[in-house]
Amino acid sequence: MSSKTLPLTGEMLAAILEKHPTPFHLYDEAAIRRNARALTEAFSWNRGFKEYFAVKAAPNPYLLKLLAKEGFGADCSSLPELVLAEKVGVVGEDIMFTSNDTPPEEFQKAKELGAIINLDDVSHIPFLEACAGLPETICFRYNPGPLKKGNVIIGHPEEAKYGFTREQLFEGYRTLRDKGVKRFGIHAMVASNELDPMYFVETAEILFSLVVEISRELGIRFDYVNIGGGLGIPYRPEEEPVDLQVVSQGIRGRYEEIIEGNGCGPIDLYMECGRHITGPYGYLVARVRHIKKTYKNFAGLDACMADLMRPAMYGAYHHITVIGKQEAPHDVMYDVTGSLCENNDKFAIDRKLPELESGDVVVIHDSGAHGHAMGFNYNGKLRSAELLLREDGTVEQIRRAETVEDHFATLDFDRLEGFSV
Ligand SMILES: *Cc1c(COP(=O)(O)O)cnc(C)c1O
Repeated sequence: MSSKTLPLTGEMLAAILEKHPTPFHLYDEAAIRRNARALTEAFSWNRGFKEYFAVKAAPNPYLLKLLAKEGFGADCSSLPELVLAEKVGVVGEDIMFTSNDTPPEEFQKAKELGAIINLDDVSHIPFLEACAGLPETICFRYNPGPLKKGNVIIGHPEEAKYGFTREQLFEGYRTLRDKGVKRFGIHAMVASNELDPMYFVETAEILFSLVVEISRELGIRFDYVNIGGGLGIPYRPEEEPVDLQVVSQGIRGRYEEIIEGNGCGPIDLYMECGRHITGPYGYLVARVRHIKKTYKNFAGLDACMADLMRPAMYGAYHHITVIGKQEAPHDVMYDVTGSLCENNDKFAIDRKLPELESGDVVVIHDSGAHGHAMGFNYNGKLRSAELLLREDGTVEQIRRAETVEDHFATLDFDRLEGFSV
């Protein structure tokens, strides 16, 4: 019926449910590691290849630590993300700091950690110089504008707030060269959840050509090209994963032709994927709380959009498996909802599922990136726990669920009595 599978048996899940109340996100360590190795292997032709995991996708230090063990760095975009990387021991050039609209303290922290700083705008050159000083190695984010089409998550590049124009790139690298910066990189990221492998080949080609042009005109040498993140995942059962061999070999061909052909090598290839790394290997586990039948059938879960916002935010599809009813006929139409007082708090709309009843355990697939991470507290909703299914089949809680005390931690109730109104 569906190509979406679970990483554990019904008995294993039942044992977890005895100890851990729903809802929670469960991550599959073995699959995350396998997938990480496959990415590294696919690009092994490039000696300096490195993936910087986009921390925002799953900002949990336990996940970062196991990804660091697999050789990944961290792509950070805020002070807390930098601190998280530091806590895991990911520092120096294992951090790529790709931010925008950046405050001075974030540049200072990135510089202090020795991170690679990826600037979003030409005006950030004097800003960075004034607040932290220029580091030895610097990268610019390129926005190709009308040269490239975007997609629904990021939008058209010309409309996007990110990156330098082509002219600003030349101006920026010239400025840096004249100020004595020695090592240069270039970056672009204009799509997210892209399933067409040629998209990444094209991005690499655009950046490789720029490297050749800019190196020639300014007499500088590039150390690396960062083709960004954005590798998509098959959220729908009928979709296919991106063929990494096609991406890798396509980029390799352009690299040999453009970079090596023009004597600009060797250049390290970097990526900063988030979704592709953890997305398919996270599962939001919840229970059906109430079945409601009015003008439609509603299955209300004990999870809500604070646990997984993508369906509400993008109309995104997330596959749903009902535990113990996988083989039952999927012939009842439901809206699967959360408990938020917002009518877009729905995990699925008009989804055919087996007949549901209160207490049924449902697994919402592909919650491993931009799932727990996008959580929020609107309407007093508390964020769920995160569990890691270890390679040996045991389960470790890697983040506890929020409590009411956590929720009110920033309020001072003691002063309330003396507050006259
Ligand atoms: C979000 C983001 C990423 C990761 O995107 P994915 O679609 O999760 O791969 C990488 N780089 C930057 C600058 C981002 O904003």
